[in-house]
Amino acid sequence: MRFSSLGSGSRGNSTLVQQGETLLMIDNGFSTKETDKRMARFGVTGEQISAILVTHEHADHLGGVARYARRYDIPVWASHGTAKMMKGVEGVQCFNSHQSFELGAFLVEPVLVPHDAREPTQFVFKSNELKLGVMTDTGSITQHMVEALTGCDALLLECNYDRDMLLNGAYPDSLKRRVVGDWGHSDNLQSVELLNQLETEKLQHLVLAHVSEKNNSHELVLDCVSSAIQCDRARLKVIDQDDGLDWCTLTTDNNIKETLHA
Ligand SMILES: [Zn+2]
Ligand SMILES: [Zn+2]
Repeated sequence: MRFSSLGSGSRGNSTLVQQGETLLMIDNGFSTKETDKRMARFGVTGEQISAILVTHEHADHLGGVARYARRYDIPVWASHGTAKMMKGVEGVQCFNSHQSFELGAFLVEPVLVPHDAREPTQFVFKSNELKLGVMTDTGSITQHMVEALTGCDALLLECNYDRDMLLNGAYPDSLKRRVVGDWGHSDNLQSVELLNQLETEKLQHLVLAHVSEKNNSHELVLDCVSSAIQCDRARLKVIDQDDGLDWCTLTTDNNIKETLHA
C-alpha cells in the first residue's frame, strides 16, 4: 500500500491511496489542469483513478471533483449528506457513514467527524493487513475517532493551527470563532491529544496535514508532534500546500519495516 498528497491546506486538498491496480483519490480542491500537473509529479494519471471519495462539501475538498470526475469518467463516492450538497456531480454513489465497504483492493471505513458540514466523514483504509487513517477537518476529538484510528500503520492527521498565532492573527473574530469551535479545525495540541489516545507502535508514517499558512508553521508542527510522541522529528512529514507529499509506502515485511519509534 502507498499514499501521497497533491497538496493540503485551505487552498486545496487531495490525497491518493493505492494498492495494486486500485488507485483512490480522496477529495480534490484543485483545477483539472493543476491536478494533472501534480499527478504527473508522482507518476500517475487521471485514467488510473478507480474512484474519488469526498469527505465533505467545503470548496478546498470538493472544488475540483466534478470537473475531474467528468474529464476521466471516474465514479464519485460520498456520504448521503455530502452527496446532497454536491452540485454538478452526476451519479454520486452513496455509502452508509456507519458501514465499511469494499472498493477494489480496499476495505474503506468512513469515520463521521465533528465539522461544520452536512455529513462529513474521514476515512480508514485497510488492505493486505495494513491500516491507513486519514483524518482532517475535525473540530474536536470523539471516542469514535479514537477507536477508528488506533493501531494504524500510517496516519495522515490534521494540524491546522497554532492557537496563539490564530488568536493574535489577522483573521476576523467570526472566522477565529469558527476555526477554534467544536465543529471547526484541530490545532497542534488537539492533534497531539488525539495521538496520545492512540496506539502508535505500528506507525510507519505520520504525516501532518491541512497546516494553515497564516496561523501555523511546519516548524511548530514538527516540534509539537515529535516531542509529544517522542520520535525523531526527521521521521515526521508535513504536507506542503504547493508541493504536496511524495509517495509513502507501507510494508508488512518485518525485514524492511521501519516504525517511528524504532
Ligand atoms: Zn478543509
Ligand atoms: Zn472543511
